[in-house]
Amino acid sequence: DVLEEDALWRFQIILIGDSDVGKTCVVQNFKSGIFSEKQQNTIGVDFSVRTMDIEGKKVKVSTVCGQERFRTITQSYYRSAHGAIIAYDITRRPTFDSVAHWIKEVELYGANNVLLVLIGNKCDLEQERQVPFEEACIFAKETGILAALETSAKVSQNVEEAFTMMARELLARN
Ligand code: GDP
Repeated sequence: DVLEEDALWRFQIILIGDSDVGKTCVVQNFKSGIFSEKQQNTIGVDFSVRTMDIEGKKVKVSTVCGQERFRTITQSYYRSAHGAIIAYDITRRPTFDSVAHWIKEVELYGANNVLLVLIGNKCDLEQERQVPFEEACIFAKETGILAALETSAKVSQNVEEAFTMMARELLARN
């Protein structure tokens, strides 16, 4: 792939958050623009690599999805991550309450200064909402998270934006 060979910037992003918030689907959507029901994988880690065009610069973004069942594998990915997207499910408040825990994990296992973006996934399920967006925004501001966004892997909403936002900020830092 010519695009990938040309890429001058390479960033690694880890997706973390409670089980079933949609991390795998978000990564899938980012990679291929589609929504596919969860596919069981044997090694316990979902990878994706995509080259993005950010203001005329080719940026290669590698994404890995943390799986709670394989904690030791996931922990090793924290070390090389430039950014972490922390996901919760807007229809399940306990998954939002866990965000603080996931931030601690990044602080514990990650490098210094890992960029954080918060995503409230499944925003297509407005009727079942348990977490107001405003609350997520306030939380993000208080905890030094770059931005809070609501996404839907199912209807392809804001997934691209979340990764673009992160890539743009990582570029600005480098
Ligand atoms: P993970 O454990 O965090 O990786 O979660 P998965 O990606 O496996 O998704 C868990 C479940 O939520 C699956 O049944 C998905 O089909 C569903 N799901 C994921 N993203 C969305 C979304 O944006 N909207 C809706 N309605 N369902 C979603």
